[in-house]
Amino acid sequence: MTSIFHRSPGASLPTAIGGQGVWLEASNGRRYLDASGGAAVSALGHGHPRVIEAIREQASKMAFAHTAFFTNEPSEQLAEFLANRAPINAPRVMFCSGGSEATEAALKLARAYHVARGEPSRSVFISRNQSYHGATIGALSVSGNPGRRAPYLDILAPCRFIDPCYAYRHQYADETPEAYGRRAADKLEAEILAAGPENVAAFIAEPVVGATLGAVTAAPGYFQRISEICRTYGVLFIADEVMCGMGRTGSLFAVEQENVRPDIITMAKGLGGGYQPIGAVLASGEVYDAIVSGPGYFEHGHTYIGHATACAAALAVQRTIEEESLLEHILELHPVLVDLLHQALGPTGMIGEIRGRGLLIGVELVRDTATKTPFPPEMKLAAAIKKAAMAQDLIVYPNSGCVDGRSGDHILIAPPYIAERSDLEQVASRLARAISTVLAEVA
Ligand code: PMP
Repeated sequence: MTSIFHRSPGASLPTAIGGQGVWLEASNGRRYLDASGGAAVSALGHGHPRVIEAIREQASKMAFAHTAFFTNEPSEQLAEFLANRAPINAPRVMFCSGGSEATEAALKLARAYHVARGEPSRSVFISRNQSYHGATIGALSVSGNPGRRAPYLDILAPCRFIDPCYAYRHQYADETPEAYGRRAADKLEAEILAAGPENVAAFIAEPVVGATLGAVTAAPGYFQRISEICRTYGVLFIADEVMCGMGRTGSLFAVEQENVRPDIITMAKGLGGGYQPIGAVLASGEVYDAIVSGPGYFEHGHTYIGHATACAAALAVQRTIEEESLLEHILELHPVLVDLLHQALGPTGMIGEIRGRGLLIGVELVRDTATKTPFPPEMKLAAAIKKAAMAQDLIVYPNSGCVDGRSGDHILIAPPYIAERSDLEQVASRLARAISTVLAEVA
């Protein structure tokens, strides 16, 4: 009996008691291969001595000092580290405790920027269908995930949505990837014109869609065109790198691979790699300068902004990724993992697409690969695979993309950057066994 109000009341979940490298240990005596870090959180795996030491050292010196009164060394150093590497002009960094808080801050920054510049009519946000940017009311308002929105529709703020850039589902057979990228991006222009450009504050999108579409990468040129449209109409571009950032796709920021410079970038999960709850928002110097030369300050804040121990942990995670050349390792592992998954899962005959970048890989499952027909949502296939994978002592992240009938179930695979080939072989073979078990049950 437990008093915890967890997200799946009634489900009986194992109690995690230990973690080492790619493995998580539970009180039921089992060791789970953590192939998704929950949802792409774990960058260095579990029990990393350097990060643990950084936390111990900072906590024993000074765990926390409120940012209304002080700044602190780890937050200053982490801000410097990120600002020196971010694909954003003259960046300023604000910390928070996770992804949803980062989205909230990004939306408010965009709004504050326009008000400071004398354009208070700009209050409309444009996002994409089948997206997820967080669970708080503001962040959920700009999330195009029907299932997560449904219980709260009446209290969400208005937002406009365009289709995601999702070639597997939306590219015409006779269309080049470039032409599709252009067509998909032009939907933003149409939406801005429909809303009235003078009313639009910002467009928010994940450079690689993690949470709801299973590692969907944009078509070539898509984000360049998006960026051009945003500039034309004075709309800010917010890149949500909460899941795909911090090295996950093989570059520190995923948007680096799109050759664009957003106005605002959000990040979280891989920033602290799970060692401490931490997120961040980077805003361009232009956004920052407008706000400070307008009202003079940004009316926003949380108690744990710039938490010293959290920043010390994140700094240790980021320095380790850089000093141990883990981005190169991720780029080497990418084709290995994709090949292993094709070999292991191909024989199920249900693999619509295996896609992604770096160590953010999605597997879309379909009933018929020729017609791309998804499994019916009521089958809850992805959830069944998550359960079957746990029975194989494997952690992968499920997503029932079928909610709106437009895409299939996905499995997200996002192992820690320190994974080796032998770990990935285990991921592929265990996942194949899990999928086969589920398919045999529903056949
Ligand atoms: N944005 C994206 C892209 C995410 O994947 C998530 C979490 N899955 C969030 C925002 C929200 O982050 P958090 O759960 O840390 O609040």
